[in-house]
Order: sequence, then C-alpha cells, then structure tokens
Amino acid sequence: MKFADLIQRLQHSRSRLSEGLGRVIGRASEAPVDLAALEALLLGADLGVGVVNPIMVKVRAMLDAAPVRGEAARQKVREAVRAVLLERLVPCQVPLNIGTAKPYVIMLLGVNGSGKTTTAAKLAERYCRAGRRVVLGAADTFRAAAVEQLQVWGARIGAEVIAQPPGSDPAAVAFDTVQAGLARGADLVCLDTAGRLHTKSNLMEELKKIVRVIGKAHPGAPHERLLVLDATVGQNGLAQARHFHEAVGVTGLAVTKLDGTAKGGILVAIAQELQVPIRWIGVGESAEDLVDFDAKQFVDALLGENAG
Ligand code: GDP
Repeated sequence: MKFADLIQRLQHSRSRLSEGLGRVIGRASEAPVDLAALEALLLGADLGVGVVNPIMVKVRAMLDAAPVRGEAARQKVREAVRAVLLERLVPCQVPLNIGTAKPYVIMLLGVNGSGKTTTAAKLAERYCRAGRRVVLGAADTFRAAAVEQLQVWGARIGAEVIAQPPGSDPAAVAFDTVQAGLARGADLVCLDTAGRLHTKSNLMEELKKIVRVIGKAHPGAPHERLLVLDATVGQNGLAQARHFHEAVGVTGLAVTKLDGTAKGGILVAIAQELQVPIRWIGVGESAEDLVDFDAKQFVDALLGENAG
C-alpha cells in the first residue's frame, strides 16, 4: 500500500492528532504552548499515560531549555511527540520470517470480532500470491460462520481448508491442520481459533491445549502466536492482550480496524505495554488492506506529515 493510501486510511486517527496538535500549539499566534491542552489531546488519542508522560517531560525540558514561541515552538513540540512515538514503535517493527520452519505455523488468537478469521484469510491470500503453499485450519469450531468464511476464502485463493463439523474439538482440528500441512509439504499453516466458547470450558485452557497438541504434531510449532487486536476497542484491547499473553505467550500482533478509529494512538500504548513485534496492521476489509507494519510510516501518517 502506498503511503498516500495509508494516510487516507488512517484519516480518523490522523485528523484527531494532527489537527489537534495544530490547534493546541496554535497556528499564527505567538502565544506560549498550552501544555495542559497538549496533554489532554495526547491522552484523548489513546496513547496511554506510559507514552504521554515521557512526551510531556520532553516537551517541558525542551521549552525550559530554550523558551520559544510561534513556529519554532510548534516545530519543537512536534519533534518531541514524534521522537517518543518512534522510540516506542521502532523496536516493534520486526517482520515475520516464515522461512524458518516447514510448514511455519501461525496460530491466530483474539476475542470474537477482533478480525482473526479475516486476518487468517488475508495472510493466506498474501502468501498464496507469493507462490507459497498454504493450509488454513478452522479451529473456531464454535462459530459456523467462521468455518464457512474460511472455506469461501480458501476456495477463492486456492488454499486447502481443514475443518470439522461445528462443535468439534478445536484441538483435533488444529492437529489435523498441522498434519495436513506436513503431508502436503506446505510452507505455511494459518490456524484460526475461537475467541469465546459456548460451553463452560475455559478459553485460555483450550488455547493452551491447542498449543500443546500442535507442538506434538510438529515440534517447535506454533511458531507464531499472533494476537489479533481490534484498535477500535481502545484501552480494553490492552486488558485482552495481557490475558492472552499470560496464557499462551504472544509472539506477534496484528492490529486491525485502524481505518475505523480516531484513536490510532492505541497502537503505541499496545507497543509500550506488550513489547512484542507488531507484524501487520489492518486498514480495511480486503486482502491488500493488511499492511506490513512500518513504524516511521505509521507515525508520519498519524501526525499527518510527509513520508521522507
Ligand atoms: P473474528 O471473530 O475475530 O474471526 O473476526 P472476523 O474476522 O470475523 O472480523 C470481524 C469483522 O471485522 C468482519 O466484518 C471483518 O470484515 C472486519 N474487519 C477485520 N479486519 C478489519 C480491518 O482492518 N478494517 C475494517 N474496517 N474491518 C475489518
């Protein structure tokens, strides 16, 4: 996706932060920077206190060292915000390398509606297009729609989909999927999982069981435990993330629906909190809308600046 398109997709988040910054630090006036308004703006963008505090410390230190007003002050504040955001996000820019195992197994995790099934399908499409052999596993056996969705997508892109009737044991589907991946000499296995169970059984225990079963079928797998987080749920996403992380040890993130929120800052809060790689961001519903995470592009898009 081109940078201009990314900017377009992130328009809700961008307008909130960049226009807000424009307002807070004033356009034409020589008035001093309104620090309280700046802090409120950053918190309102869901950056989280762990990110906003260091920004404010930096801004205050800068203004104390060289009290500037007008354009010079605006530039300095922007620089401080940008520097802290990049500091948090650059270490999270670690692309996934599926060449380290055959098949490489990605287990997708996340609550219902976060975009797991869509992300599994988008990943399958991306790697199929790149000439890789992909097997999809429909281990969200509690949601018939999820199984159907994968089957439709699989048929379209030419990826085999392993499924069992609704209500089957998800760990059995996971095992079958990995076995199929091994038998077919697949490069990649994408396993969709449930985000909520209809029975009383505990989701986290179920996910741990799936991890164990996959590891028996294919030692070292699942290689990636990809947590799919919906950016529009804001700070709630952080609590979810912690929960999954404690249970199965998340190794990467896909943050979806960044096209639909004014609070793209949540990505920075997530990065700060979890300190795991952000592999992809979702900025729409079709396959090309799953974009490799690029920290600098994201920050530029968020702040409404030009790529360069
Ligand atoms: P699951 O329950 O976690 O498997 O979630 P689904 O994959 O079924 O996705 C839930 C809804 O979110 C679907 O309508 C998807 O099309 C939509 N969705 C997923 N990713 C994105 C995204 O990046 N942007 C937008 N706008 N919608 C998305």
